[in-house]
Amino acid sequence: MNYEPVIGLEIHAELKTRTKMFCGCLNDPDEKHPNINVCPVCLGHPGTLPVPNKSAIESVLKLGLTLDSKIPEESKFDRKNYFYPDLPKGYQISQYDQPLVLGGELNAVRITRIHLEEDTGRLVHEAYSMKHEAEKNVSGFGLHASSLVDFNRAGVPLMELVTEPDIKSGDETVRFAKELQLILRYLKISDADMEKGQMRVEVNISLGQIIDGKLQMGTKVEIKNLNSFKAVGDAIDYEIKRQAEVLEAGKEVVQETRGWNEGQGKTFSQRFKEESHDYRYFPEPDIPPMELSRELSRFNLDNLKIEIPELPAQKRKRFAEEYGLNEEQTEILVSDRRLAEFFEESVSELKSQLPITNYQLLINYLTSDLTGLMNQEGISISELKITPEHLAHLVAMIEKKELTSRMAKDVLAEMIATGLDPHEIIKEKGIAQVSDEDSIKKVIEEVIAENPVAIKDYKKGKQNALQFLIGKTMAKLKGQGNPEVIAKILNNKLR
Ligand SMILES: [Zn+2]
Repeated sequence: MNYEPVIGLEIHAELKTRTKMFCGCLNDPDEKHPNINVCPVCLGHPGTLPVPNKSAIESVLKLGLTLDSKIPEESKFDRKNYFYPDLPKGYQISQYDQPLVLGGELNAVRITRIHLEEDTGRLVHEAYSMKHEAEKNVSGFGLHASSLVDFNRAGVPLMELVTEPDIKSGDETVRFAKELQLILRYLKISDADMEKGQMRVEVNISLGQIIDGKLQMGTKVEIKNLNSFKAVGDAIDYEIKRQAEVLEAGKEVVQETRGWNEGQGKTFSQRFKEESHDYRYFPEPDIPPMELSRELSRFNLDNLKIEIPELPAQKRKRFAEEYGLNEEQTEILVSDRRLAEFFEESVSELKSQLPITNYQLLINYLTSDLTGLMNQEGISISELKITPEHLAHLVAMIEKKELTSRMAKDVLAEMIATGLDPHEIIKEKGIAQVSDEDSIKKVIEEVIAENPVAIKDYKKGKQNALQFLIGKTMAKLKGQGNPEVIAKILNNKLR
């Protein structure tokens, strides 16, 4: 039998607003102390009233405008009722039938909708209580096998993007999710770090069958708890195989929610899926409907449009054309908005120093040497002390042959440590390339006198003997000799 995978996604992303969705508590994902950023509103105390966060709504509208979606005239919040210990109100404020954003497209996948809701608290299971609380045994009952709740995350703005079932494979899914993550970061509306749970991907997957030329839909299974792109791709590949085997055996696929066991590389049954009527959605009575695209709206969509930066897809195209970069180099730069800006600022400084049209050396220093040193030191591009101008100065000196690549390495390490301009470092440390022929000649004469065997080998035609002699000379010059001048003089001497 030939099966056709039909995949749709629900992607949640925590928005990077200053405060929470419906109260003034700080939205700080890095807060380590539990239950610090809480108040009566986000703890669901009776009699409190939610006030929607305008900047969270604007973030979602901006994403919608980026994806060519439709912004409806009106939108409203609804209550989604269910009980769970991480949800103090007993309901979640979400959006049901009138989301903020409708339609749109990304990577040829149709977007159904994007809506806004509040995140839940976080349950901390027994490992924590055993280690930190049990020995205190405050309650006298012991806290073994118990769970604790941290409400710092309760009420944090959470957007949910739903796609049409347009995707056919794990690879396509991962490409879509990565591109969305990049756009969220470009728009600076979410850090969307999957490992930190700031972006969560849920997959709806079924296997259709083509019967008489028509696609007959299969039963949908939902996969949750996917906390890396790799998990997303692997879980989908596994699930396609599993469902095909079930169908081949003449059995039926059960509609359910499945989790992903990373260690075993398998999905497993978690629970049977709820239908939306189980949640008893009804309009949130404490928040009036919002006017979005109507004339008197509090949201200025034209201003939001202006704030949308050049998007990754546009940048890829422009970088390839303008700088002649290959696909891999383009991707390294475009995958980090700050790195791309750093590159372009360096290019503009480099151009002011040299009539240059080839940026390969700059690219190499930026994506290989500099990135390598940054990884080694554990610093990110935003923490980097080196300015784009300083990097351009370093590259200009290498291009002008004032600096060998060996010396540039040391200078770069020093630049990372001190944040100084390479010119200053060279002056301070007395690093300068020795190009003056007389001093090099003197050293070469010593090298020739000290290495008679290599000289003999060279005269017998062994080419690597020359490299050996250049190396010996360079070592005596502490790596600061001009390699071209050394080779020229050696060649003349040994002729
Ligand atoms: Zn609060």
